[in-house]
Amino acid sequence: VSEYIIGVDLGGTNVKTALVSRDKKILGKDSRPTRAEDGPNAVMECMTEGVEAVLKCSGVDKKDILAAGFGAPGPMNWQTGVVFSPPNLPGWKNVPLADEMQKRLGFPCFVDNDANVACYGEYWLGAGQGAENMCLLTLGTGVGGGIVVFGQLLRGIDGTAAEIGHLKVMRDGRLCGCGARGCLEAYASVTGMSRTAVEGIETGAKTILTEMCGGDLKKIDGKMISDGIAQGDEFSKHVMHETAVWLGIGIGSLINLLNPEKVVLCGGMIAAGDVLFNPIRETAKKMSFEVPGNRAEIVPAGLGADSGVIGSAGCALARYEAMAK
Ligand SMILES: [Zn+2]
Repeated sequence: VSEYIIGVDLGGTNVKTALVSRDKKILGKDSRPTRAEDGPNAVMECMTEGVEAVLKCSGVDKKDILAAGFGAPGPMNWQTGVVFSPPNLPGWKNVPLADEMQKRLGFPCFVDNDANVACYGEYWLGAGQGAENMCLLTLGTGVGGGIVVFGQLLRGIDGTAAEIGHLKVMRDGRLCGCGARGCLEAYASVTGMSRTAVEGIETGAKTILTEMCGGDLKKIDGKMISDGIAQGDEFSKHVMHETAVWLGIGIGSLINLLNPEKVVLCGGMIAAGDVLFNPIRETAKKMSFEVPGNRAEIVPAGLGADSGVIGSAGCALARYEAMAK
């Protein structure tokens, strides 16, 4: 029997590939530029090269591959594997990614939303191991989400579920990229955190950030805020704390809604450590009921930047096995 699965994390900048065994050992990894600007065919060619590279470096034969999973930016139809029109992949419109890759590779291919596969990766092999119910928040330019309920991704009827970043946390609040107001993402993403800093400075806060950005407030980003904290700037600490409180509010609601064992956070922002996690934990506890609030552990991701690529493999295995039944 085939014992190996391939996971591919299709990002706007890089394509990451991993070859994983059924017993969860990572046997080969590859990363290469996506060539997104050259359109869908070039990107699929690049993914094919990535798969061939991991086969070669792990010494596994193509015929021993059970399936491959692709974590792609949404929106998409996860069941048919058609990717609609991801904002960071120019020229993509209704690309039948699963079918196209299956034609190129010769084994079953499955496509899933990138935040969902990252969640599944943490459930399968990362910080969520051992938990049956968990959710994941990816903290980047936006806030992505994934939810596992008793070992299964929560997808909803159209596959659009688990948009944690668009939980509403404020009436008539900040305008979000999705067009609505008051979404968690508008406050708790790295972009949202920078907005908090800019708003504070515009209303008179004194901070080293003003100097660091050379007076151009648009240049304030997550890195600058962490540098500010490292240099002992009180305002930078305050901005991180505010961001953590927003996250705690959203996570508190998730805890009441889902009663998870683990809430896993990933993305560059989690490097802030206790400065971020302590106020998140405190707020989430205050915002949730006693039993689920005491139950849920809020923890950093265990797979670093690899949750997506490993989760794509894990998800493909689960879907392959469900299909075979
Ligand atoms: Zn939104």
